Amino acid sequence: MRIGIGYDVHRLVEGRPLVVGGIRIPWTHGPLAHSDGDVVCHAVADALLGALGLGDIGTHFPPGDPAWAGADSVVLLGRVRDLVRQAGHAVHNVDVMVVLEQPRLAPHTAMMRHVLAEALDAPSGMISIKATTSEGLGPIGHGEGLAAWAVATVRPCGS
Ligand code: MG
Repeated sequence: MRIGIGYDVHRLVEGRPLVVGGIRIPWTHGPLAHSDGDVVCHAVADALLGALGLGDIGTHFPPGDPAWAGADSVVLLGRVRDLVRQAGHAVHNVDVMVVLEQPRLAPHTAMMRHVLAEALDAPSGMISIKATTSEGLGPIGHGEGLAAWAVATVRPCGS
């Protein structure tokens, strides 16, 4: 069993779609990013790559690459799952902590789990997504951005 950690943050700007954990959430602001700026998918991708010492998301999906402009990060996560597989492993479990002041993400976390489980080819019982606010403290607390931390474990295929 191997473990990895991932973190991602994006600035929130008016008029961009808010996509978190593969779910489009109706809101006035969304992440400023080259892709869809899905901090959950990006943090999980980095955690999985980290678990296998495969570098990071920027190595595999360069931010300037036109192929990933406005990209659906769930697709990117599927590519990471393929890299994990090519390295002879499977996703075991994932735990994510998202920090966003508004809107509340709790009503959407069950669907996010489902989307991530599908993308990672893991049972949804092995995917955990939790959301919290920053209690009004700091830039995230002031609504300037959102962030996610993730840890992931992978196991050799067939075990
Ligand atoms: Mg990102």
